[in-house]
Amino acid sequence: MKTIMVIGAGQMGGGIAQVAAQAGYSVILNDIKDEFVERGFGIIQKNLSRSVEKGKLTAEEKEVMIGLITKSTSLQDAVAADLVIEAAVENMAIKAQVFSQLDVICPEHTILSTNTSSLPITEIAAFTKRPDRVIGMHFMNPVPVMKLVEVIRGLATSDEVYKTIETLSEKMGKTPVEVNDAPGFIANRVLIPMLNEAVCTLNEGIATVEAIDNVMKLGMNHPMGPLALADLIGLDTVLSIMEVLHEGLGDKYRPCPLLRKYVKAGWLGRKSGRGFYNYQT
Ligand code: NAD
Repeated sequence: MKTIMVIGAGQMGGGIAQVAAQAGYSVILNDIKDEFVERGFGIIQKNLSRSVEKGKLTAEEKEVMIGLITKSTSLQDAVAADLVIEAAVENMAIKAQVFSQLDVICPEHTILSTNTSSLPITEIAAFTKRPDRVIGMHFMNPVPVMKLVEVIRGLATSDEVYKTIETLSEKMGKTPVEVNDAPGFIANRVLIPMLNEAVCTLNEGIATVEAIDNVMKLGMNHPMGPLALADLIGLDTVLSIMEVLHEGLGDKYRPCPLLRKYVKAGWLGRKSGRGFYNYQT
């Protein structure tokens, strides 16, 4: 395993590219437009410069890591990849298109993985002719900080591919946890309904945004309140995950109408400058 292609240079893809370069892999960072790739690349440079300032990295080490990252706006570049980690938007139609194209472009040995938060790995794998080489690698946000990777086996994922990804996750400084394919896997099946419930609590006028977050921070020792966390994840992503849980697990997972309203308004949280909090300075 030498070259990893990361598809989608947003908050997750950028973080994944950073930890892959930190682990010494050649990285191809891909997005649909130059400006998106540049934005992701700029954030990686900023993060690594901060590590140099803090004395965690030398300036030389940073330059080596930056030098390992190649920018791409063509999916054809996947021809050089031993592993693809897809971190494009949480939308099955887009993932289906990306995986069916990757299956044609990539050499036979290439493993195709997805950072999907909730979409079925088995269904994504079925868009390829190599379902045994398709697997979920669910990183947490922010990727450079959070230790966990849920490694999700699709129905056909081979043991060899699972082992390879488990070892790779460890080389990237992460702790892999094995999960079978099911709606929301573990992390989001447990977490996202709590965030949705916080939105419902707000919607019913029971308390303010700050009060809801304070209860969970001070009362449950959560480092961040659920509404601030929803803003960090992205409200569009939270809604997509709730839809998957609702469809797969039933009515108790119904997305809160206020969450839908915010997404329709384009209030997506930190990435759009406004969510439950206002991030415009
Ligand atoms: P984001 O909106 O920050 O970034 C997505 C990027 O994908 C954008 O830059 C977009 O231009 C790009 N993109 C869209 N279509 C593409 C295509 N066809 N080819 C290449 N790039 C394309 O989203 P994000 O938060 O980084 O989420 C990405 C994935 O990671 C989603 O599947 C999401 O569910 C998952 N995820 C998100 C979180 C989180 O906390 N945000 C955590 C774990 C997993």
